[in-house]
Amino acid sequence: MLLGGTVDSPVLDGVGSHDQLCSIYETDVERDAVAVPFLRIGLGRGEKCVYLHSDGKWDDIARALSADGLDVQRFISNGALVIKSKDESYLRNGRFDVERMLGLWQDESAAAKSQGYSAMRGAGETDWVLSTAPDLEHWLDYEARLTDAIALCDCRLVCQYNRARYPPELLLGIIQMHPLVIHDAAVCRNHHYVPAVELLPLRDARRTVQRWLRDIRADGQGELALRRAEETIARERIDMQHQHQRLAEQVEAMAKLEERLRQTDARNTAILENITDMFFSFDKDFRFLYMNRQGADQMRLAGKEPELLIGKLLWDEFPDAPNREAMRRVMDERAPETDEVCYPLLRQWYENRMYPSPDGGMVLFVRNVTQRRQHEEARRRGEAYLDAAQRISHTGSWGWNASTGELVWSAELFRVMGHDPQGRKPSREMLYERMHADDREAVRRAFDAAVRGRQNFSANYRIVRPDGAIRHVLSEAHPMLDDSGTLIEYVGAIVDVTERKESEDAAHKARAELAHVNRALTVAEFTASIAHELNQPLAAVVANAAAAERWLAAQPPDELELRAAVKRMARDAKRASDVITHIRGLLTRREPHKAELLLSAVIAEVISLVEGDARHKEIALSATVQAVLPPIRADRVGIQQVLLNLLVNGMDALASAPQPRTLTVSARREGAEVSVQVRDSGQGIEPQSFALLFEPFFTTKAQGMGMGLAISRSIIEDHGGRIGALNNAEGHGATFEFTLPAYTQVQ
Ligand code: ADP
Repeated sequence: MLLGGTVDSPVLDGVGSHDQLCSIYETDVERDAVAVPFLRIGLGRGEKCVYLHSDGKWDDIARALSADGLDVQRFISNGALVIKSKDESYLRNGRFDVERMLGLWQDESAAAKSQGYSAMRGAGETDWVLSTAPDLEHWLDYEARLTDAIALCDCRLVCQYNRARYPPELLLGIIQMHPLVIHDAAVCRNHHYVPAVELLPLRDARRTVQRWLRDIRADGQGELALRRAEETIARERIDMQHQHQRLAEQVEAMAKLEERLRQTDARNTAILENITDMFFSFDKDFRFLYMNRQGADQMRLAGKEPELLIGKLLWDEFPDAPNREAMRRVMDERAPETDEVCYPLLRQWYENRMYPSPDGGMVLFVRNVTQRRQHEEARRRGEAYLDAAQRISHTGSWGWNASTGELVWSAELFRVMGHDPQGRKPSREMLYERMHADDREAVRRAFDAAVRGRQNFSANYRIVRPDGAIRHVLSEAHPMLDDSGTLIEYVGAIVDVTERKESEDAAHKARAELAHVNRALTVAEFTASIAHELNQPLAAVVANAAAAERWLAAQPPDELELRAAVKRMARDAKRASDVITHIRGLLTRREPHKAELLLSAVIAEVISLVEGDARHKEIALSATVQAVLPPIRADRVGIQQVLLNLLVNGMDALASAPQPRTLTVSARREGAEVSVQVRDSGQGIEPQSFALLFEPFFTTKAQGMGMGLAISRSIIEDHGGRIGALNNAEGHGATFEFTLPAYTQVQ
């Protein structure tokens, strides 16, 4: 009998799988002394434990388990410990059903396995059985079959019987049905166990119970020891099998890992061998560990045998490596770095990417970037050239994105505009604020119109610099359209043409000076004939004055004759005065001034100047002017000078020519132009001279200056006309022709 103690844990430890025990007790304490360690061992081993109690006797056991240090509530809530009353288990649905109960244990143990428990164990009280006669019969039937029913399950079961309450003949039957019996703090093999099929009729049950229990107790210890040893060996065998299996699995996993590593290694090597960069790896002391093919090729170029480098110290082999400091930093600080270095001897640039490697060393990727550096250099040089070209030519460029409105100015444009290139972002306002107030509106309108029409833009305007200096600029822009004709941007250039304009003005002035000198010289050439020309009207005036005097002295004075003489005097005086006016006009130094002119008048004026000289040289000078000749818009003196030059040249060409010596001026309309021809019958133009006729200083004359035709051409072109020469097709001599646009007055 056991009072207040528990069954030795190791004793219960020995309860094996498939075991079905009965515990026969006399007190509740004895009952719990079996149940408590039985459950504790199960919970400790990770088994699922089921306890079926009758009439709320569970509380004592729970207390005892808690006192043992087990967190009973936790086991209950995580499902490891299942507590059921008899009504929830044996007597579910109000009656005891043998099949259902046998099935319950089988199902519970299968469920426990699938939920991950190592096994299942169950204990149940049986007090209730005695209270119902039909259940008692079923119960015995159940007990007789239970051992066989759980034979295939990983399950241990303990049925607890109160010896005091059960009639002995019943207990006899019970004992016969259990191969193991717990009694008096020992788990004992039961010699009285009779397999279900062989159960003998029970006789003299009480004494048999007594004897059997004694026998069982007597040889229980030795049996149990043997059984324990057997089971320990079996367990150890299983453990060893498990260990062996685990070991085999580990070996297999390692082999797989090794294979994977080998494959990864091969893949990585293949990748490194196929990249275009050179690759080197070093250990923590900068010993060569590995280099790819490109790296090896480079080493050969440097005169090193790649295979022999492996294991050698980098700094022994390349003491002057230019990126030495950076590599040391990467090794020490374990942070990647990239640099670009030039090897002057090779004239090559290399990019070095250096990374610390997990084994404490480092790896180095090297790429030849010479070409990229050259491109960058070329681009930089190109930009510098462009910048210099813009600076020298005072040309600024700009781009205006039509959709974003973004404006980009070149540095020179900032300078042309008198803005600081490092200052604010360029804007249209910055441009207009510099523009001369008188030009601003016209330029704005012209640019807006160009944008609307997607057209080129060109304008000359003035810029007022902050210091008040006025600069003349030429602005041109071109629209960039996409395939659908949508405007993308305008690109343009603004050239400071102030110097060019000033030099043009100066050249213009110089040309005017030259023209004036040329005129003076030309006029001087026939001063004598002009004097003679003046003499004639003046002599006529004198003669008429004498006549007038005579008509006045007559008695009575002849008023009619007098009037006629005074009229002639006035006409001749006017003629003389006109000649003087024309000469003065030619000799006065003044700026060209364009006005509406009738060519017929200009031709008559010039002829009046040279006709005396022509007569003197026995040249037949004539003029034919088309009756309805449209006016021209021109500088009178300039056109006079051209005509004068051509007539003087014609007379020069006729100087040694045989008679008849003719010099003809004709003028006619040709479409929208007026054409003037001066034709002579002189010696004509040498073929080789044609290309040079209008060049300055080309002359074939001993006293010539070679400026007449050059000046004439610049005057005609300044009027939007053309001038040319050709030898006459019939007869001798040459014809010079110039054309000028006819002037149609704009209403
Ligand atoms: P210059 O009269 O001082 O020589 P120009 O420029 O007026 O200078 O003329 C240049 C040259 O053109 C002359 O020297 C002459 O050779 C040629 N030339 C000009 N007009 C005629 C002409 N009507 N017939 C033949 N040659 C001419």
